[in-house]
Amino acid sequence: MEYLKPMEPTRIHSNGDSLFQDITFAPDIPVYAEGKCHTLNVVKQVEQTLANDLSADKEYLPITGMPEFNKLTEVVFLLLAAYIIVRKSPAIKESRVVTVQCVSGCLSLRVGAEFLAKHYHQHVVYLPEPTYGNHPNLISAAGLTLKTYRYYDPKTLVLDFQGLLEDLGSALTGAIVLFHACGHNPTGVDPTCQQWEQIRQLVRQRGLLPFFDCAYQGLVSGNLDDDAQSIRMFGCDGGECFVAQSYSKNMGLYGERIGSLSIVCKTADVARRVESQLKLIIRPLYSNPPIHGAAIVTAILKDRDLYQKWTNELKAMRDRLVQVRRQLYDSLCNKGTPGDWSHIIKQVGMYSFTGLNKDQVDFLTREYHIYMSSDGRINIGGLSSKTVPYFADAIHDAVI
Ligand code: PMP
Repeated sequence: MEYLKPMEPTRIHSNGDSLFQDITFAPDIPVYAEGKCHTLNVVKQVEQTLANDLSADKEYLPITGMPEFNKLTEVVFLLLAAYIIVRKSPAIKESRVVTVQCVSGCLSLRVGAEFLAKHYHQHVVYLPEPTYGNHPNLISAAGLTLKTYRYYDPKTLVLDFQGLLEDLGSALTGAIVLFHACGHNPTGVDPTCQQWEQIRQLVRQRGLLPFFDCAYQGLVSGNLDDDAQSIRMFGCDGGECFVAQSYSKNMGLYGERIGSLSIVCKTADVARRVESQLKLIIRPLYSNPPIHGAAIVTAILKDRDLYQKWTNELKAMRDRLVQVRRQLYDSLCNKGTPGDWSHIIKQVGMYSFTGLNKDQVDFLTREYHIYMSSDGRINIGGLSSKTVPYFADAIHDAVI
């Protein structure tokens, strides 16, 4: 595993005493080599057009980002039809949704958390156990208090639905609950539609505030509409909800840092007030967001042909993930590797909790130079038909 090198503390005094001499090294942040990132053809096509547009300037965007991007992007997860412009959700029609372009999924979460810390009476956030490693950092950095709810049962390798209902059923009144809209990272385990409906009813009965993290839309079912069902249930029931959205994975725009925060409010008047407060939060954080990623996404969302090309490529990316899962599962079955590996094909999205324990993961690292999280999580996108056989051999060796 490669690591970022910690920086030497700067010495800024001519007499050699640094004002920062008490600062200790931050813990290393791992950088995972996940293979080459593939740029979508539709993105390359749009970039050509943008490069040829000599009239485009590099003016700052407004604090809340590119207005056209904001309008289009909120429809992507609240949409109810195959093409975005066609049918709108009641929340959008009634102008109850505020959307601000943010610096990718991470800052969308952070801006939402800052807003809640400043303007919401309850400062406790329940995170699923386990969750994306940066969630606790992003949310606690805003001053909110973290608690967890049961999500995954490591014994059965499936959703701990009973535990989830019990924990949310006894959560503090008004608490904020973070949900992964689809393709839960790190487990690859999502609630079914019926389970989401039960969760929705419980959340609304108990007056909890849902905050969706939508980082893998389209990569679970291959269809944007289907992957946003969880959000739509909450976004269309008249209640409030927060959505942090990211185009890092589903448009492959990782380094462009493009995403958005949407807040569905109860009335248009509240939505206008929320928007004005969001500006006060964003201004001292990063002043205004970058242009390029928003220009790419906007160009794709507003053009029917480009949109079609994107959704085709998205489906192809998702189909590859499914194929790799199947290949890994088949390889383990064919080898007769002890254990039931069906969870690998039942799990969805980019991640798989293999069920390997820490000792087995250490064995893979030591004997096979395979580097993965100690909790047994793998990024399915980092495997290919060429590397699956080697990985299956290693797993076999680790468990026998
Ligand atoms: N949420 C989840 C669940 C993630 O897995 C990630 C990235 N891996 C993010 C948010 C943040 O993504 P980004 O900031 O690149 O959009």
